[in-house]
Amino acid sequence: MEQNALTLGISGFSYPDLYDSSRLKDLLDVFDVSVKKHDADLFNRFAAYRQNQGEGLAPEAISDLLVCMGPYVGQFVATLFGVTEQHQAQAAKIKDEFTTIFTYKNVAVDKLNLVYKDEDVNAWDKSAINQRFDLLVAACFPEADADSDLEHRVARVGAAIGLLSAHYKLVAKGKESDYANADGTVQELRDMLSVHPQAAVEFKEVIGQLEPADFVQGLMDVVQRWSYLAQHNPEIGGKWLSFKFPEKRDFDHLVEHDIVNKGEFTAWMGELNHRRRRDGFKLTDPRFNQREVLSEVDHCIYCHERDTDSCSKGMINKKTNLFKVDPLGVTTTGCPLDEKISEMHLVKRNGDNIGALAIIIIDNPMCPGTGHRICNDCMKGCIYQKTDPVNIPQIETNVLTDVLFMPYGFEIYSLLTRWNPLNVKRPYMLPYNGKNALVVGLGPAGYTMSHYLLNEGFGVAGIDALKLEPLPTYLTGDSSTLPTPVADFKELYEQLDERILAGFGGVAEYGITVRWDKNFLKVIYLTLLRRQAFRAYG
Ligand code: SF4
Repeated sequence: MEQNALTLGISGFSYPDLYDSSRLKDLLDVFDVSVKKHDADLFNRFAAYRQNQGEGLAPEAISDLLVCMGPYVGQFVATLFGVTEQHQAQAAKIKDEFTTIFTYKNVAVDKLNLVYKDEDVNAWDKSAINQRFDLLVAACFPEADADSDLEHRVARVGAAIGLLSAHYKLVAKGKESDYANADGTVQELRDMLSVHPQAAVEFKEVIGQLEPADFVQGLMDVVQRWSYLAQHNPEIGGKWLSFKFPEKRDFDHLVEHDIVNKGEFTAWMGELNHRRRRDGFKLTDPRFNQREVLSEVDHCIYCHERDTDSCSKGMINKKTNLFKVDPLGVTTTGCPLDEKISEMHLVKRNGDNIGALAIIIIDNPMCPGTGHRICNDCMKGCIYQKTDPVNIPQIETNVLTDVLFMPYGFEIYSLLTRWNPLNVKRPYMLPYNGKNALVVGLGPAGYTMSHYLLNEGFGVAGIDALKLEPLPTYLTGDSSTLPTPVADFKELYEQLDERILAGFGGVAEYGITVRWDKNFLKVIYLTLLRRQAFRAYG
Protein backbone atom coordinates (compact mmCIF):
# COMPACT_ATOMS: atom_id res chain seq x y z
CA MET A 1 0.00 0.00 0.00
CA GLU A 2 1.12 3.49 -0.81
CA GLN A 3 2.72 5.32 2.13
CA ASN A 4 0.58 8.37 2.70
CA ALA A 5 1.84 11.52 4.31
CA LEU A 6 -1.35 12.98 5.72
CA THR A 7 -1.26 16.70 6.50
CA LEU A 8 -4.22 17.65 8.63
CA GLY A 9 -6.30 20.66 7.65
CA ILE A 10 -6.58 22.12 11.17
CA SER A 11 -3.45 24.09 11.93
CA GLY A 12 -1.31 23.03 14.87
CA PHE A 13 -2.33 19.35 14.58
CA SER A 14 -0.58 16.43 12.98
CA TYR A 15 -1.61 12.82 12.37
CA PRO A 16 0.04 11.41 15.54
CA ASP A 17 -2.12 13.79 17.61
CA LEU A 18 -5.17 11.79 16.62
CA TYR A 19 -3.90 8.92 18.80
CA ASP A 20 -3.01 11.11 21.79
CA SER A 21 -5.68 11.74 24.40
CA SER A 22 -4.38 15.17 25.49
CA ARG A 23 -4.17 16.35 21.88
CA LEU A 24 -7.70 15.08 21.24
CA LYS A 25 -8.78 17.26 24.15
CA ASP A 26 -7.03 20.18 22.41
CA LEU A 27 -8.80 19.29 19.19
CA LEU A 28 -12.13 19.42 21.00
CA ASP A 29 -11.24 22.89 22.27
CA VAL A 30 -10.51 24.05 18.72
CA PHE A 31 -13.81 22.56 17.56
CA ASP A 32 -15.64 24.41 20.35
CA VAL A 33 -14.02 27.71 19.40
CA SER A 34 -15.01 27.24 15.75
CA VAL A 35 -18.66 26.53 16.66
CA LYS A 36 -18.74 29.47 19.07
CA LYS A 37 -17.49 31.74 16.30
CA HIS A 38 -20.27 30.65 13.93
CA ASP A 39 -23.17 30.27 16.34
CA ALA A 40 -22.55 31.40 19.90
CA ASP A 41 -26.08 30.57 21.02
CA LEU A 42 -25.84 26.97 19.78
CA PHE A 43 -22.42 26.61 21.37
CA ASN A 44 -23.70 27.85 24.74
CA ARG A 45 -26.67 25.48 24.65
CA PHE A 46 -24.46 22.55 23.68
CA ALA A 47 -21.85 23.43 26.33
CA ALA A 48 -24.63 23.46 28.94
CA TYR A 49 -25.78 20.05 27.69
CA ARG A 50 -22.25 18.72 28.00
CA GLN A 51 -22.09 20.13 31.50
CA ASN A 52 -25.45 18.84 32.74
CA GLN A 53 -25.32 15.60 30.66
CA GLY A 54 -28.91 16.17 29.56
CA GLU A 55 -30.28 16.53 33.10
CA GLY A 56 -33.50 18.54 32.93
CA LEU A 57 -33.51 18.68 29.13
CA ALA A 58 -36.50 17.32 27.21
CA PRO A 59 -35.63 14.52 24.75
CA GLU A 60 -36.75 16.75 21.87
CA ALA A 61 -34.32 19.46 23.01
CA ILE A 62 -31.40 17.00 23.11
CA SER A 63 -32.32 15.72 19.65
CA ASP A 64 -32.47 19.25 18.32
CA LEU A 65 -29.02 20.03 19.74
CA LEU A 66 -27.53 16.95 18.06
CA VAL A 67 -29.18 17.70 14.72
CA CYS A 68 -27.91 21.30 14.86
CA MET A 69 -24.41 20.32 15.98
CA GLY A 70 -23.99 17.31 13.63
CA PRO A 71 -23.20 19.45 10.57
CA TYR A 72 -20.52 21.36 12.50
CA VAL A 73 -18.83 18.04 13.26
CA GLY A 74 -19.22 17.06 9.59
CA GLN A 75 -17.59 20.28 8.33
CA PHE A 76 -14.83 20.24 10.96
CA VAL A 77 -13.83 16.62 10.32
CA ALA A 78 -13.97 17.17 6.55
CA THR A 79 -11.59 20.13 6.97
CA LEU A 80 -9.34 18.10 9.27
CA PHE A 81 -8.88 15.40 6.61
CA GLY A 82 -8.92 17.76 3.61
CA VAL A 83 -12.07 16.23 2.14
CA THR A 84 -14.34 19.28 2.14
CA GLU A 85 -14.79 19.10 -1.62
CA GLN A 86 -15.95 15.45 -1.51
CA HIS A 87 -18.09 16.12 1.55
CA GLN A 88 -19.84 19.01 -0.19
CA ALA A 89 -20.21 17.05 -3.43
CA GLN A 90 -22.00 14.27 -1.53
CA ALA A 91 -24.27 16.85 0.10
CA ALA A 92 -25.10 18.48 -3.24
CA LYS A 93 -25.99 15.11 -4.77
CA ILE A 94 -28.22 14.11 -1.85
CA LYS A 95 -29.99 17.48 -1.78
CA ASP A 96 -30.52 17.28 -5.52
CA GLU A 97 -32.20 13.88 -5.16
CA PHE A 98 -34.62 15.34 -2.64
CA THR A 99 -35.40 18.43 -4.71
CA THR A 100 -36.04 16.31 -7.81
CA ILE A 101 -36.93 12.61 -7.33
CA PHE A 102 -38.64 12.81 -3.97
CA THR A 103 -40.26 16.20 -4.55
CA TYR A 104 -41.72 14.88 -7.81
CA LYS A 105 -42.94 11.81 -5.95
CA ASN A 106 -44.56 13.82 -3.16
CA VAL A 107 -46.10 16.67 -5.16
CA ALA A 108 -47.02 15.00 -8.46
CA VAL A 109 -47.16 11.20 -8.12
CA ASP A 110 -48.52 10.69 -4.61
CA LYS A 111 -52.22 11.30 -5.27
CA LEU A 112 -52.48 10.05 -8.86
CA ASN A 113 -54.94 7.30 -7.99
CA LEU A 114 -57.29 9.91 -6.56
CA VAL A 115 -56.82 12.36 -9.41
CA TYR A 116 -57.75 9.78 -12.04
CA LYS A 117 -59.95 7.50 -9.95
CA ASP A 118 -62.81 7.67 -12.45
CA GLU A 119 -60.70 7.20 -15.57
CA ASP A 120 -59.69 4.10 -17.50
CA VAL A 121 -56.02 4.41 -18.31
CA ASN A 122 -56.33 1.78 -21.04
CA ALA A 123 -58.61 4.10 -22.98
CA TRP A 124 -56.02 6.88 -23.01
CA ASP A 125 -54.10 7.81 -26.15
CA LYS A 126 -50.67 6.82 -24.87
CA SER A 127 -48.63 8.17 -27.73
CA ALA A 128 -50.36 11.57 -27.60
CA ILE A 129 -49.73 11.81 -23.84
CA ASN A 130 -46.07 10.85 -24.22
CA GLN A 131 -45.63 13.27 -27.08
CA ARG A 132 -47.17 16.17 -25.14
CA PHE A 133 -44.96 15.48 -22.15
CA ASP A 134 -41.80 15.25 -24.27
CA LEU A 135 -42.71 18.50 -25.96
CA LEU A 136 -43.19 20.22 -22.60
CA VAL A 137 -39.74 19.00 -21.49
CA ALA A 138 -38.09 20.09 -24.74
CA ALA A 139 -39.70 23.52 -24.76
CA CYS A 140 -39.48 24.51 -21.09
CA PHE A 141 -36.76 22.34 -19.56
CA PRO A 142 -34.02 21.89 -22.19
CA GLU A 143 -31.37 21.12 -19.54
CA ALA A 144 -33.51 18.36 -18.03
CA ASP A 145 -34.15 17.04 -21.52
CA ALA A 146 -30.44 16.30 -21.89
CA ASP A 147 -30.34 14.34 -18.60
CA SER A 148 -29.23 10.75 -19.24
CA ASP A 149 -30.82 9.58 -15.97
CA LEU A 150 -34.38 9.12 -17.23
CA GLU A 151 -36.02 9.18 -13.82
CA HIS A 152 -34.11 12.32 -12.91
CA ARG A 153 -35.11 13.92 -16.23
CA VAL A 154 -38.78 13.38 -15.51
CA ALA A 155 -38.47 14.30 -11.84
CA ARG A 156 -36.84 17.66 -12.59
CA VAL A 157 -39.87 18.62 -14.65
CA GLY A 158 -42.47 16.99 -12.42
CA ALA A 159 -41.05 18.61 -9.28
CA ALA A 160 -40.98 22.07 -10.85
CA ILE A 161 -44.56 21.94 -12.13
CA GLY A 162 -45.79 20.11 -9.02
CA LEU A 163 -44.38 22.76 -6.68
CA LEU A 164 -46.02 25.53 -8.72
CA SER A 165 -49.30 23.65 -8.62
CA ALA A 166 -49.04 23.19 -4.84
CA HIS A 167 -48.38 26.93 -4.48
CA TYR A 168 -51.51 27.96 -6.37
CA LYS A 169 -53.61 25.42 -4.48
CA LEU A 170 -52.44 26.94 -1.18
CA VAL A 171 -53.16 30.45 -2.43
CA ALA A 172 -56.64 29.36 -3.55
CA LYS A 173 -57.31 28.17 -0.02
CA GLY A 174 -56.10 31.50 1.39
CA LYS A 175 -53.02 29.85 2.91
CA GLU A 176 -49.42 31.03 3.07
CA SER A 177 -46.94 29.69 0.53
CA ASP A 178 -43.18 30.13 0.64
CA TYR A 179 -42.78 29.79 -3.15
CA ALA A 180 -40.98 32.97 -4.27
CA ASN A 181 -42.15 34.72 -7.45
CA ALA A 182 -44.46 32.00 -8.76
CA ASP A 183 -46.10 34.41 -11.20
CA GLY A 184 -42.66 35.23 -12.65
CA THR A 185 -41.93 31.52 -13.15
CA VAL A 186 -45.31 31.07 -14.82
CA GLN A 187 -44.53 33.93 -17.21
CA GLU A 188 -41.19 32.34 -18.11
CA LEU A 189 -42.86 29.00 -18.84
CA ARG A 190 -45.56 30.71 -20.89
CA ASP A 191 -42.91 32.54 -22.93
CA MET A 192 -40.89 29.38 -23.53
CA LEU A 193 -43.95 27.49 -24.75
CA SER A 194 -44.97 30.40 -26.98
CA VAL A 195 -41.63 30.69 -28.78
CA HIS A 196 -41.29 26.96 -29.39
CA PRO A 197 -42.93 26.35 -32.81
CA GLN A 198 -44.45 22.93 -32.02
CA ALA A 199 -45.27 23.65 -28.39
CA ALA A 200 -46.97 26.92 -29.29
CA VAL A 201 -49.46 24.93 -31.39
CA GLU A 202 -49.82 21.90 -29.11
CA PHE A 203 -50.24 23.99 -25.94
CA LYS A 204 -52.29 26.81 -27.51
CA GLU A 205 -55.16 26.24 -25.10
CA VAL A 206 -52.94 26.10 -22.02
CA ILE A 207 -51.01 29.22 -23.08
CA GLY A 208 -54.36 30.95 -23.51
CA GLN A 209 -55.24 30.44 -19.85
CA LEU A 210 -54.82 33.92 -18.42
CA GLU A 211 -54.93 32.98 -14.74
CA PRO A 212 -51.55 31.57 -13.59
CA ALA A 213 -53.29 28.88 -11.54
CA ASP A 214 -55.26 27.67 -14.59
CA PHE A 215 -52.14 27.74 -16.77
CA VAL A 216 -50.23 25.67 -14.20
CA GLN A 217 -53.16 23.26 -13.90
CA GLY A 218 -52.92 22.70 -17.65
CA LEU A 219 -49.22 21.78 -17.34
CA MET A 220 -49.83 19.69 -14.25
CA ASP A 221 -52.34 17.64 -16.20
CA VAL A 222 -49.64 16.92 -18.81
CA VAL A 223 -47.20 15.82 -16.08
CA GLN A 224 -49.72 13.76 -14.15
CA ARG A 225 -51.21 11.99 -17.16
CA TRP A 226 -47.72 10.97 -18.25
CA SER A 227 -46.97 9.87 -14.66
CA TYR A 228 -50.18 7.87 -14.36
CA LEU A 229 -49.35 6.02 -17.55
CA ALA A 230 -45.81 5.41 -16.27
CA GLN A 231 -47.19 4.11 -13.00
CA HIS A 232 -48.99 1.40 -14.95
CA ASN A 233 -45.87 0.49 -16.87
CA PRO A 234 -43.92 -2.17 -14.90
CA GLU A 235 -40.65 -0.95 -16.40
CA ILE A 236 -41.16 2.45 -14.77
CA GLY A 237 -43.85 2.16 -12.11
CA GLY A 238 -42.32 -1.04 -10.77
CA LYS A 239 -38.74 0.23 -10.77
CA TRP A 240 -38.45 3.98 -10.27
CA LEU A 241 -38.19 5.10 -6.66
CA SER A 242 -40.44 8.08 -7.40
CA PHE A 243 -43.24 5.53 -7.83
CA LYS A 244 -42.44 3.46 -4.76
CA PHE A 245 -44.89 3.74 -1.89
CA PRO A 246 -45.05 1.66 1.27
CA GLU A 247 -47.28 -1.36 1.04
CA LYS A 248 -49.67 -2.66 3.67
CA ARG A 249 -48.00 -5.07 6.07
CA ASP A 250 -49.72 -8.37 6.68
CA PHE A 251 -48.16 -10.08 9.69
CA ASP A 252 -49.64 -13.40 8.51
CA HIS A 253 -47.97 -13.04 5.14
CA LEU A 254 -44.67 -11.27 5.67
CA VAL A 255 -42.67 -13.21 3.10
CA GLU A 256 -43.94 -13.34 -0.46
CA HIS A 257 -43.76 -16.86 -1.81
CA ASP A 258 -44.95 -19.07 -4.59
CA ILE A 259 -46.49 -22.48 -4.01
CA VAL A 260 -45.07 -25.23 -6.19
CA ASN A 261 -46.63 -28.55 -6.88
CA LYS A 262 -44.15 -31.34 -6.20
CA GLY A 263 -46.51 -34.17 -7.10
CA GLU A 264 -47.27 -35.77 -3.77
CA PHE A 265 -46.99 -32.53 -1.88
CA THR A 266 -46.83 -28.79 -2.41
CA ALA A 267 -44.02 -26.61 -1.17
CA TRP A 268 -43.40 -22.95 -0.48
CA MET A 269 -40.74 -21.34 -2.59
CA GLY A 270 -39.32 -17.82 -2.51
CA GLU A 271 -40.49 -15.77 -5.47
CA LEU A 272 -38.42 -16.51 -8.54
CA ASN A 273 -37.89 -12.83 -9.30
CA HIS A 274 -36.12 -12.47 -5.93
CA ARG A 275 -33.82 -15.40 -6.52
CA ARG A 276 -30.12 -14.60 -6.60
CA ARG A 277 -27.79 -17.28 -7.83
CA ARG A 278 -24.76 -17.71 -5.67
CA ASP A 279 -21.75 -17.62 -7.92
CA GLY A 280 -18.86 -18.83 -5.78
CA PHE A 281 -18.38 -16.95 -2.53
CA LYS A 282 -18.59 -13.35 -3.64
CA LEU A 283 -20.83 -10.96 -1.72
CA THR A 284 -24.36 -11.79 -2.86
CA ASP A 285 -26.13 -8.70 -1.51
CA PRO A 286 -24.66 -5.43 -2.76
CA ARG A 287 -27.04 -3.43 -0.52
CA PHE A 288 -29.32 -0.58 -1.63
CA ASN A 289 -28.00 2.01 -4.04
CA GLN A 290 -28.00 5.68 -3.02
CA ARG A 291 -31.44 6.45 -4.45
CA GLU A 292 -32.99 3.42 -2.75
CA VAL A 293 -31.45 4.52 0.55
CA LEU A 294 -32.69 8.09 0.14
CA SER A 295 -36.15 6.72 -0.61
CA GLU A 296 -36.08 5.15 2.86
CA VAL A 297 -34.83 8.42 4.38
CA ASP A 298 -37.75 10.15 2.65
CA HIS A 299 -40.16 7.58 4.10
CA CYS A 300 -39.06 8.51 7.64
CA ILE A 301 -41.09 11.21 9.39
CA TYR A 302 -38.35 12.18 11.88
CA CYS A 303 -40.26 11.24 15.00
CA HIS A 304 -37.57 12.60 17.35
CA GLU A 305 -39.20 15.99 16.83
CA ARG A 306 -42.17 14.65 18.85
CA ASP A 307 -40.31 12.21 21.09
CA THR A 308 -42.14 9.35 19.34
CA ASP A 309 -39.08 7.79 17.69
CA SER A 310 -40.01 4.26 18.60
CA CYS A 311 -37.32 2.87 16.30
CA SER A 312 -34.88 4.03 18.93
CA LYS A 313 -36.90 4.11 22.14
CA GLY A 314 -39.38 1.30 21.53
CA MET A 315 -43.17 1.37 21.33
CA ILE A 316 -44.61 2.02 24.75
CA ASN A 317 -48.14 1.13 25.77
CA LYS A 318 -49.20 4.32 27.52
CA LYS A 319 -51.63 2.51 29.83
CA THR A 320 -49.21 -0.11 31.14
CA ASN A 321 -45.97 1.78 30.46
CA LEU A 322 -44.60 -1.46 29.03
CA PHE A 323 -43.25 -2.14 25.56
CA LYS A 324 -45.92 -3.15 23.07
CA VAL A 325 -45.86 -6.64 21.60
CA ASP A 326 -46.53 -6.97 17.87
CA PRO A 327 -48.85 -9.62 16.32
CA LEU A 328 -45.88 -12.00 15.96
CA GLY A 329 -45.15 -11.78 19.67
CA VAL A 330 -42.09 -9.57 19.21
CA THR A 331 -41.57 -7.02 21.97
CA THR A 332 -40.97 -3.75 20.17
CA THR A 333 -38.05 -2.42 22.18
CA GLY A 334 -36.53 -0.47 19.31
CA CYS A 335 -32.75 -0.29 18.98
CA PRO A 336 -31.09 -1.99 21.97
CA LEU A 337 -28.37 0.66 21.81
CA ASP A 338 -30.87 3.56 21.71
CA GLU A 339 -29.09 4.79 18.61
CA LYS A 340 -30.31 8.24 17.62
CA ILE A 341 -31.77 6.98 14.37
CA SER A 342 -34.28 9.67 13.54
CA GLU A 343 -31.73 12.45 14.13
CA MET A 344 -29.23 10.59 11.94
CA HIS A 345 -31.82 10.31 9.16
CA LEU A 346 -32.46 14.04 9.23
CA VAL A 347 -28.76 14.92 9.05
CA LYS A 348 -28.35 12.42 6.18
CA ARG A 349 -31.33 14.01 4.43
CA ASN A 350 -29.55 17.34 4.68
CA GLY A 351 -26.60 15.76 2.89
CA ASP A 352 -24.06 15.36 5.68
CA ASN A 353 -22.78 11.79 5.89
CA ILE A 354 -19.98 12.58 8.34
CA GLY A 355 -22.36 14.41 10.70
CA ALA A 356 -24.83 11.51 10.39
CA LEU A 357 -22.08 9.00 11.17
CA ALA A 358 -21.03 11.03 14.22
CA ILE A 359 -24.63 10.76 15.48
CA ILE A 360 -24.65 6.98 14.94
CA ILE A 361 -21.32 6.62 16.75
CA ILE A 362 -22.57 8.33 19.92
CA ASP A 363 -24.39 5.13 20.88
CA ASN A 364 -23.08 2.65 18.33
CA PRO A 365 -19.33 3.12 17.87
CA MET A 366 -18.94 -0.39 16.45
CA CYS A 367 -21.53 0.31 13.73
CA PRO A 368 -19.59 -1.56 11.01
CA GLY A 369 -20.78 -4.66 12.89
CA THR A 370 -24.47 -3.62 12.89
CA GLY A 371 -26.96 -2.42 10.28
CA HIS A 372 -27.95 -4.21 7.10
CA ARG A 373 -28.07 -8.01 7.40
CA ILE A 374 -27.15 -7.90 11.08
CA CYS A 375 -29.97 -6.44 13.16
CA ASN A 376 -33.44 -4.96 12.68
CA ASP A 377 -34.97 -4.37 16.11
CA CYS A 378 -35.23 -0.73 15.02
CA MET A 379 -37.40 -1.66 12.02
CA LYS A 380 -39.64 -3.77 14.21
CA GLY A 381 -40.10 -0.74 16.45
CA CYS A 382 -40.70 1.73 13.61
CA ILE A 383 -43.85 3.78 13.98
CA TYR A 384 -45.13 2.30 10.69
CA GLN A 385 -46.60 -0.93 12.03
CA LYS A 386 -49.34 -1.40 9.43
CA THR A 387 -47.29 -0.54 6.36
CA ASP A 388 -43.67 -1.18 5.35
CA PRO A 389 -41.35 0.24 8.02
CA VAL A 390 -38.39 2.44 7.19
CA ASN A 391 -35.43 0.24 6.25
CA ILE A 392 -33.15 1.75 8.88
CA PRO A 393 -30.34 -0.85 8.66
CA GLN A 394 -29.84 -0.03 4.97
CA ILE A 395 -29.61 3.68 5.80
CA GLU A 396 -27.21 3.15 8.69
CA THR A 397 -24.86 0.99 6.64
CA ASN A 398 -25.05 3.42 3.72
CA VAL A 399 -24.03 6.34 5.95
CA LEU A 400 -21.03 4.31 7.06
CA THR A 401 -20.00 3.26 3.54
CA ASP A 402 -20.48 6.75 2.14
CA VAL A 403 -17.88 7.88 4.67
CA LEU A 404 -15.58 4.85 4.39
CA PHE A 405 -15.29 5.26 0.61
CA MET A 406 -14.46 8.99 0.86
CA PRO A 407 -10.74 9.80 0.81
CA TYR A 408 -9.44 8.99 4.30
CA GLY A 409 -12.85 7.53 5.11
CA PHE A 410 -11.43 4.79 7.30
CA GLU A 411 -9.45 7.40 9.24
CA ILE A 412 -12.60 9.49 9.68
CA TYR A 413 -14.58 6.55 11.08
CA SER A 414 -11.68 5.52 13.27
CA LEU A 415 -11.22 9.03 14.68
CA LEU A 416 -14.93 9.35 15.48
CA THR A 417 -14.63 6.27 17.72
CA ARG A 418 -11.95 8.08 19.78
CA TRP A 419 -13.11 11.67 19.41
CA ASN A 420 -16.70 12.71 18.92
CA PRO A 421 -17.91 16.11 20.12
CA LEU A 422 -21.52 14.89 19.94
CA ASN A 423 -20.82 12.27 22.60
CA VAL A 424 -21.17 14.36 25.74
CA LYS A 425 -20.42 11.39 28.00
CA ARG A 426 -17.02 10.71 26.48
CA PRO A 427 -16.08 13.27 23.79
CA TYR A 428 -12.49 12.01 23.54
CA MET A 429 -10.66 8.90 24.76
CA LEU A 430 -9.04 9.04 28.18
CA PRO A 431 -5.30 8.39 28.62
CA TYR A 432 -4.09 4.98 29.83
CA ASN A 433 -4.92 4.63 33.53
CA GLY A 434 -2.54 1.76 34.34
CA LYS A 435 -5.32 -0.80 34.84
CA ASN A 436 -5.76 -3.73 32.48
CA ALA A 437 -8.75 -5.88 31.66
CA LEU A 438 -9.05 -9.27 30.03
CA VAL A 439 -11.85 -9.61 27.48
CA VAL A 440 -12.67 -13.21 26.65
CA GLY A 441 -14.09 -13.63 23.15
CA LEU A 442 -13.76 -11.06 20.38
CA GLY A 443 -17.22 -11.35 18.92
CA PRO A 444 -19.60 -8.37 18.85
CA ALA A 445 -19.92 -8.22 22.67
CA GLY A 446 -16.18 -8.61 23.23
CA TYR A 447 -14.98 -6.12 20.68
CA THR A 448 -17.57 -3.56 21.80
CA MET A 449 -16.57 -4.04 25.45
CA SER A 450 -12.93 -3.63 24.42
CA HIS A 451 -13.71 -0.35 22.70
CA TYR A 452 -15.50 1.10 25.71
CA LEU A 453 -12.77 -0.02 28.14
CA LEU A 454 -10.10 1.52 25.91
CA ASN A 455 -11.93 4.84 25.74
CA GLU A 456 -12.17 4.84 29.56
CA GLY A 457 -8.38 4.49 29.71
CA PHE A 458 -8.00 0.76 30.45
CA GLY A 459 -5.52 -1.54 28.80
CA VAL A 460 -7.28 -4.48 27.15
CA ALA A 461 -6.06 -7.96 26.30
CA GLY A 462 -8.64 -9.67 24.12
CA ILE A 463 -8.50 -13.42 23.63
CA ASP A 464 -10.47 -15.60 21.26
CA ALA A 465 -10.73 -19.33 20.58
CA LEU A 466 -10.33 -18.76 16.83
CA LYS A 467 -6.91 -18.18 15.40
CA LEU A 468 -6.55 -14.45 14.82
CA GLU A 469 -4.62 -13.51 11.70
CA PRO A 470 -2.40 -10.48 12.30
CA LEU A 471 -2.81 -7.37 10.17
CA PRO A 472 0.29 -5.75 8.63
CA THR A 473 2.27 -3.54 11.01
CA TYR A 474 2.24 -0.62 8.59
CA LEU A 475 -1.57 -0.60 9.01
CA THR A 476 -1.73 -1.20 12.74
CA GLY A 477 1.44 0.63 13.84
CA ASP A 478 3.35 -0.64 16.87
CA SER A 479 4.89 0.75 20.06
CA SER A 480 7.40 2.82 18.09
CA THR A 481 5.65 3.52 14.78
CA LEU A 482 2.34 5.08 13.94
CA PRO A 483 0.05 3.36 11.47
CA THR A 484 0.13 4.53 7.89
CA PRO A 485 -3.02 6.54 7.19
CA VAL A 486 -5.39 4.75 4.84
CA ALA A 487 -6.19 7.17 2.03
CA ASP A 488 -8.45 4.85 0.07
CA PHE A 489 -10.62 2.25 1.72
CA LYS A 490 -10.61 0.25 -1.52
CA GLU A 491 -7.01 -0.65 -0.70
CA LEU A 492 -8.20 -2.43 2.46
CA TYR A 493 -11.26 -3.91 0.80
CA GLU A 494 -11.14 -7.56 -0.22
CA GLN A 495 -13.53 -9.56 -2.40
CA LEU A 496 -15.17 -12.09 -0.11
CA ASP A 497 -14.22 -15.04 -2.33
CA GLU A 498 -10.56 -14.04 -2.09
CA ARG A 499 -10.59 -13.08 1.57
CA ILE A 500 -8.82 -15.27 4.13
CA LEU A 501 -10.77 -15.82 7.33
CA ALA A 502 -9.20 -13.40 9.82
CA GLY A 503 -10.66 -15.02 12.93
CA PHE A 504 -11.78 -11.73 14.45
CA GLY A 505 -15.46 -11.05 15.13
CA GLY A 506 -16.66 -14.36 16.61
CA VAL A 507 -20.11 -15.22 15.30
CA ALA A 508 -19.93 -12.34 12.83
CA GLU A 509 -16.97 -14.10 11.21
CA TYR A 510 -17.91 -17.76 11.34
CA GLY A 511 -21.69 -17.58 11.61
CA ILE A 512 -22.65 -15.36 8.69
CA THR A 513 -22.56 -16.25 5.05
CA VAL A 514 -21.60 -14.23 2.00
CA ARG A 515 -24.77 -12.13 2.29
CA TRP A 516 -22.92 -9.79 4.67
CA ASP A 517 -19.84 -7.80 3.78
CA LYS A 518 -17.14 -9.05 6.16
CA ASN A 519 -14.86 -6.20 5.21
CA PHE A 520 -16.70 -4.42 8.00
CA LEU A 521 -15.01 -6.76 10.47
CA LYS A 522 -11.65 -5.61 9.21
CA VAL A 523 -12.67 -2.00 9.90
CA ILE A 524 -13.38 -2.85 13.54
CA TYR A 525 -10.35 -5.12 13.92
CA LEU A 526 -7.99 -2.51 12.53
CA THR A 527 -9.59 0.27 14.57
CA LEU A 528 -8.94 -1.69 17.77
CA LEU A 529 -5.47 -2.96 16.81
CA ARG A 530 -4.36 0.62 16.30
CA ARG A 531 -5.05 1.39 19.96
CA GLN A 532 -1.78 1.35 21.89
CA ALA A 533 -3.41 -0.24 24.92
CA PHE A 534 -5.02 -3.12 23.03
CA ARG A 535 -3.64 -6.57 22.30
CA ALA A 536 -5.51 -9.46 20.70
CA TYR A 537 -4.55 -13.10 21.09
CA GLY A 538 -6.13 -16.07 19.40
S1 SF4 B 1 -37.54 5.21 11.41
FE1 SF4 B 1 -39.75 5.02 11.80
S2 SF4 B 1 -40.01 5.37 14.04
FE2 SF4 B 1 -37.95 6.01 13.45
S3 SF4 B 1 -38.13 8.21 13.15
FE3 SF4 B 1 -38.38 7.26 11.14
S4 SF4 B 1 -40.56 6.90 10.90
FE4 SF4 B 1 -40.22 7.36 13.05
